[in-house]
Amino acid sequence: MPDNFAIYHNSRTDIKIHNICCSAFDKRDPNTINEEWHTTPDLQTATDIARTLSREHGLHFRNCKRCKPSST
Ligand SMILES: [Zn+2]
Repeated sequence: MPDNFAIYHNSRTDIKIHNICCSAFDKRDPNTINEEWHTTPDLQTATDIARTLSREHGLHFRNCKRCKPSST
């Protein structure tokens, strides 16, 4: 199953769930050390990862307003 969603995480801002086709994922910097991307095939797993990260780091998580990820 291909990855369809991407979770963006850094230490300062809200964790965000994106469609994998979102320009934010497309333009990600592969050399950064302060940001992390996780990719998943389904939105449920993406939400689970985002929730876990938000608990671990005391951050909020939300869906990207631009690409509006949804499972449909
Ligand atoms: Zn997005």
